[in-house]
Amino acid sequence: MIVEMRRGATEEQINAVVERAHTYGFETQLNIGTDKVVVAILGSDTGRVPTEVFEVLPGVQSVTRIMRPYKLASREFKDEVSLVRIGDVIVGGPQIVVIAGPCAIESREQLLSTARHVTRVGARMVRGGAFKPRTSPFSFQGLRGEGLHLLDEVRREVGAPVVSEIIDPHLLDVMVDHVDVLQVGARNMQNFTLLRAVGRSGKPCLLKRGLASTVTEWLQAADYVLASGSAQVILCERGIRTFETSTRFTLDISSIAVVKRDSHLPVIVDPSHAAGHYQLVPTLARAAVAAGADGLLIEVHPDPTNAMSDGLQSLTFSDFERLMGELRLIAQAVGRSL
Ligand code: PEP
Ligand code: MN
Repeated sequence: MIVEMRRGATEEQINAVVERAHTYGFETQLNIGTDKVVVAILGSDTGRVPTEVFEVLPGVQSVTRIMRPYKLASREFKDEVSLVRIGDVIVGGPQIVVIAGPCAIESREQLLSTARHVTRVGARMVRGGAFKPRTSPFSFQGLRGEGLHLLDEVRREVGAPVVSEIIDPHLLDVMVDHVDVLQVGARNMQNFTLLRAVGRSGKPCLLKRGLASTVTEWLQAADYVLASGSAQVILCERGIRTFETSTRFTLDISSIAVVKRDSHLPVIVDPSHAAGHYQLVPTLARAAVAAGADGLLIEVHPDPTNAMSDGLQSLTFSDFERLMGELRLIAQAVGRSL
């Protein structure tokens, strides 16, 4: 249930709504907008309480039921677009934010040279996996703690915020000081303990869509992070499983339009994991920008043929630079910058 307060409602009036919700055993979350406050009444059985119990309170403008399975990620709760700020980078605004770097951090030279190159040609943040969630336990699992220290060097030397994947809630304490954005991978989209832990950390969260998840399930996963106290969620479409086998996953471009219509959260696209092949990545990246994505997450490697993970889908430095030039034109055509 959504309780919309009147413009200028007092703190006392807002508190009265919150307290009444608590008497019914419901939780609440506030959206303090520029000109009014919205109180979300959260619980699995809010349907048992008539809307009038809130409508009668002073300062209340209207009460509506959210019919969608996700609440905090919905436009009913918050109609203004959410901006996620990471230092001086803003995701969700007019500038398209490109995040680029290797799938896995392999060495100091590999990470630093990539970070220098991608930021020189316009990437605003650097990605690099220290802990890798590999489908096979026999594949390279990442440099782990050593990788995190290399991310510190990127922050210091290149001055760009860094994004890295968290695969286990127990790693939170180890990661928070080294990473600016915590990525929750496709394989963990419904790891609810992890989502809650990331939400509690208050760090921005880049939430990948699950391999076989609907947009609704993805937004419900976002609700876990938002309900744990963080307002900083960036959604990331990375392709889903379909019957098609000519690409690694099928990039669901429609999901950008659906998310933009139904949610206030920014959404970026990972063309690398969707395509699975470097030759296809630029086309998917261009399509994403044209379709209104707020950013891109792209794998780049100094020597893709010898990469320890995802080499086939990684762009070389020169391919990435060419793509950035193309993206700039498309961004301009859709009224954005890069
Ligand atoms: C990654 O970004 O390297 C990754 C493992 O992505 P996903 O979770 O989308 O497969
Ligand atoms: Mn990868």
